[in-house]
Amino acid sequence: MTGALPGLHELQQSLAGRVIGPADAGYDAARRCFNALVDRRPAVIARCLGAGDVAAAFDFARAHQLEVAVRGGGHNPAGHCVLDGGLVIDLSLMRTVEVDGDARIARADGGATWLDFDSATQAVGLVTPGGIVGSTGVAGLTFGGGIGHLTAQHGLTCDNLVGAELVTPDGAVVHASPAENEDLLWGLRGGGGNFGVATRLEFRLHPLERVVGGLLTYGGNGVRDALRRFRDVAAGSPRDLSCQAVLAVDESLAPVVVVGPCYTGSDADPEELSALRSAPGLVDDGVRAHSFVDQQRVFDSPYGENRHYWKGHFVRELSDELVDELLERIVALGRPPGGILIESLHGAPKDVDASTGVAGFRHAAFNVSAMATWQDAALDERYIAWTRDTAAALEPWSVSGGYVNYMQADEPIERVRAAFGDEAFGRLQALKRRYDPGNVLRRNQNIPPG
Ligand SMILES: Cc1cc2nc3c(=O)[nH]c(=O)nc-3n(C[C@H](O)[C@H](O)[C@H](O)COP(=O)(O)OP(=O)(O)OC[C@H]3O[C@@H](n4cnc5c(N)ncnc54)[C@H](O)[C@@H]3O)c2cc1C
Repeated sequence: MTGALPGLHELQQSLAGRVIGPADAGYDAARRCFNALVDRRPAVIARCLGAGDVAAAFDFARAHQLEVAVRGGGHNPAGHCVLDGGLVIDLSLMRTVEVDGDARIARADGGATWLDFDSATQAVGLVTPGGIVGSTGVAGLTFGGGIGHLTAQHGLTCDNLVGAELVTPDGAVVHASPAENEDLLWGLRGGGGNFGVATRLEFRLHPLERVVGGLLTYGGNGVRDALRRFRDVAAGSPRDLSCQAVLAVDESLAPVVVVGPCYTGSDADPEELSALRSAPGLVDDGVRAHSFVDQQRVFDSPYGENRHYWKGHFVRELSDELVDELLERIVALGRPPGGILIESLHGAPKDVDASTGVAGFRHAAFNVSAMATWQDAALDERYIAWTRDTAAALEPWSVSGGYVNYMQADEPIERVRAAFGDEAFGRLQALKRRYDPGNVLRRNQNIPPG
C-alpha cells in the first residue's frame, strides 16, 4: 500500500477490505473498466467488505474532500465506476449470493455479477431476469432497469427487486422494501445508483429448468426480411419467448443480423421459434436446448479490451422505414465489430403495475442502440460520430430519452430527465434530497437534488 495520499494507512486500518493506491501491485487492473475508452487514475480504491467499510470509505472521502465513484461490475459504458484523483468504493469483494429456495428469494451482495447470481440460483432451478453478459454487475444493471433473456417472461430486472440495503453518504444504513421506505424501492427500480451504495439486494425468483436458445444468423439478401420477421414475432407478444437482435456487418462489409431467442415454454416446436428459424437468409442455426447459464454466455464480450461508445432510443415501433434506416446506418459503420442492438420489450414488462417503479420505458416496443466498438484511439472521432449520427437517425421513432444503463457520460441532463418524465424526475429529486442532499453520488446518470 502506498502513502501517496495522506491517511491511506489509517483508511486501511479502518477497513476489513483492502485499500489500493497508485503505487500498489494490482492498481492498474483495479482501475480498469469494461470500456477501454475510459482511462482514469483514482487517488485510492477502497475494496470494501460490508456496510461498515462503505461508511468508512465515505467518511474518508469527506475528510479528504475526495470525489466518490462506485464500482460494481465496472460495465457502465460511461465509465462512471472510476475517476481521476478521487476515491472508488469498489464492491468487487462483495459477491456472495444466498438463495432461499423455499421462499424463492435471492440475496445478492452489492458487487455480485450476473454469473455469480445465475450460478447460485440455477443450482436450485431458479432464476430472475438479468443481463446477457455474465460479468455485468447485478446492482448497476438492476438500478437502471435491466433487459435480458427473460424479459418477456418475467419483466425488467428491477420489477423483480423486492428489497435492498443501502449505505447513504452520511454513513447511515437504510432499508428499502414494500414494507419499509417503499418510495426508495420505487426509485431504485430504474433511478440508478443515486441514493446510496447497495450492500445487499433481494430478488424474487422463478422456476426454470432449461431454455431453448442460442443464436440465429442471417445474411445476404435475407437480412431485411429476417429483421421484419423478428419484429413480427415480437409483435405477437409471446410470453415464453424473449428475443434480441444485433445488426452488424461481416468481413465483406455486408449486413448480417444475429437473433438471440430464449424460449422457456414446454412446446417441442413452438410456432414463434420456427417462424424465426425459417426466416429468409438463415446462414447459421445455433439454437438448441441448453441450461440458462449457457444461454447467458451466447453474447459474451471481452472485458477492458475495446473502446466503446453507445447511444440509442426506445422506439414505439420497428416500422419498415426504420428497418431500412438501420440497414443504411449499419453499412455506414464500415467494418466489424460493433453494431446496432435491438431489444424487444414485449410481454411481461407491459403487465407490471408501472407505478411500482420509476423505469419509464416499459411502454416502448424496442430499445434500439448504436454500439460502436474499436481499438485504435485514432478512430475515436470517427466511431463516436457514427454512433451519434445513427442515434440521430432514430430520433423520429423515439418515445423517451433513452436507456440510462447504456448512456455515455456526455448525455445532457435533459435526456436523463426525459428517460423518466418530468413528474417522476421530480419525485426522484425529492428522494435525492432525502438520501444524498450533497450529491456525493454524482458519477452516474445523475439526478441532482434540485
Ligand atoms: C458488455 C455489457 C453488457 C451489458 N448487458 C446488459 C444487459 O443485458 N441488459 C441491461 O439492461 N444492461 C446491460 N448492460 C448495461 C449495464 O446494465 C449498465 O452499464 C450498468 O450500469 C452496469 O453495472 P455495473 O455494476 O457492471 O457497472 P459499474 O460501472 O460498476 O457501475 C455503474 C453504476 O452503477 C451504480 N452501481 C453499481 N453498483 C452499485 C451498488 N452496489 N450500489 C449503488 N450503485 C451501484 C453506480 O452508480 C455506478 O456508477 C451491459 C453493459 C455492458 C458493458
